[in-house]
Amino acid sequence: MSKYWSKIAAGQRPYVPGEQPKDRKYIKLNTNECPYPPSPLVLEAIKEAANEKLKLYPDPSGEDLRQTVAEYYGLKKEWVFVGNGSDEILAFAFMAFFDPGSTILFPDVTYSFYPVYANLFQLDYRLVPLREEFSLYPPDFYDSEGGVIFPNPNAPTGNYVTMEMIEKILIRNPDKVVIVDEAYIDFGGETAIPLIAKYPNLLVIQTLSKSRSLAGLRVGFALGQDGLMEGLNRIKNSFNSYTLDRLSMAGAIAAIRDESYFQATRQKVMQTRERIVPILRQMGWQVIPSQANFIFISHPVFKAEGVFTELRQQGILVRYFRQPKIDNYLRVSIGSDEEMDSLLQALTEIN
Ligand code: PMP
Repeated sequence: MSKYWSKIAAGQRPYVPGEQPKDRKYIKLNTNECPYPPSPLVLEAIKEAANEKLKLYPDPSGEDLRQTVAEYYGLKKEWVFVGNGSDEILAFAFMAFFDPGSTILFPDVTYSFYPVYANLFQLDYRLVPLREEFSLYPPDFYDSEGGVIFPNPNAPTGNYVTMEMIEKILIRNPDKVVIVDEAYIDFGGETAIPLIAKYPNLLVIQTLSKSRSLAGLRVGFALGQDGLMEGLNRIKNSFNSYTLDRLSMAGAIAAIRDESYFQATRQKVMQTRERIVPILRQMGWQVIPSQANFIFISHPVFKAEGVFTELRQQGILVRYFRQPKIDNYLRVSIGSDEEMDSLLQALTEIN
């Protein structure tokens, strides 16, 4: 703590991201990255964009990328907002749509950036309890004073909320913004994007970090009707006149256009998940049903923290949250088949 800090800085408990080791080659199953490289077309596009035009500022509104996302989802580009990863867009959305003194809601176990942003922007929040196995209670639990946010599938648990439930939450909160954070939607869930045309209070946020293998490029986007887009732009333009840099935009456009590569990698991740879940269950692990590129597991005998430490010593990184209610769970990203086989082998040895 420094005497120079503002009260906000002094009072903040920032999000702690998963470890990104530099020094040793780990099997990295701790931050839900994709095990496969980005599309070769992405690398080509970035190389091509690495030219003398870098002396010029990028397009402030990211129009080409917005147009590409809009075409992909059959929306107009005015309903697309792009940002440096969905974390940045989430921060803008919290500022644009939620007010201090008006309680917002999110699930009890959820993405731990939400309480961090709520504290930063001095918002009151209430944690909505979850059922056993972390599924969400019915829509009436989400009647909010100030707005609602949840990931779908939820993180770090992996369970998925149906479109029907999302629609009911939207209907029950007509004057408040409902943010659906679809960071993991491409691994088996159904996107809420088709609901946007019907519900002006719906903001859907997605990222290229997971299903497009581009966590290192930092690109996300949000979709919603004009009023919400204007709100996001007001906040964005109060921080930075530019959205993304030239290289990120070129890479992101190429990624979204390479549909066959995208389909192949996401299918592969889902197949690997479906292959290893029954094996883990047979080994005595409880696995929460997942529609994401990670699984949330616990064991009736082995303590999660001990397994986390043991796996780390064996060169396998998974995520352990020292947090009430989930401190006996491990979140394991779905890696390649070989990586998952190494994990199973290491877990067998612990057994
Ligand atoms: N939302 C959820 C639920 C996440 O788990 C993550 C990844 N940590 C993000 C958003 C942020 O992803 P990014 O900033 O890489 O787009």
